[in-house]
Amino acid sequence: MTFHEKDVGVLISEEAVQARVKELGAAITRDYQGKELTLICVLKGSAFFAIDLARAIDLPLTLEFLGVSSYHGGTESTGEVRITTDVSKPMAGKHLLIIEDIIDTGLTMSFLLENLRARHPASVKICSLLEKPARAKAKVDIDYKGFVIEDKFVVGYGLDYGEKYRNLPFIGVWKHT
Ligand code: 5GP
Repeated sequence: MTFHEKDVGVLISEEAVQARVKELGAAITRDYQGKELTLICVLKGSAFFAIDLARAIDLPLTLEFLGVSSYHGGTESTGEVRITTDVSKPMAGKHLLIIEDIIDTGLTMSFLLENLRARHPASVKICSLLEKPARAKAKVDIDYKGFVIEDKFVVGYGLDYGEKYRNLPFIGVWKHT
């Protein structure tokens, strides 16, 4: 028995995740031809996804990391968002693609959109691996979407429960909620 099996069941397999990442990478490659693309990896949850996605995009690109805190170790988002680590360069005139792990209430992404748009980029688009529409509070249009999931708490492939389980290669369901 591996360490997670008592607590986590597979929702989306590693193979399905990797296949979808490749499809998203191909779509982004087509759409950003001739443009200078900047991927904004929202820490920590989207780190695994952003790195795999960057490798699936056949374009020269810049990778930036943005740390936000919106969620404090339980299973509920608080709606209070703040930037804990900012990007390393000015974003003015850049084509930004925000890479998120999951859009749940949408409050984090609404905050990020407003914050990044105020820096006068050439464009801002959103790529989210997962969307949980059942809990949406703020309307967010996702330009590149991996999977739509039911209202279940998920872990793995970057997503945590109490900072653990990020290293699972699949998307799993937390069995105890
Ligand atoms: P929001 O509710 O603002 O759209 O989502 C905020 C953050 O809550 C996400 O980026 C993610 O870190 C966390 N979150 C939302 N739903 C889940 C979930 O099912 N599992 C985990 N591990 N984190 C979640």
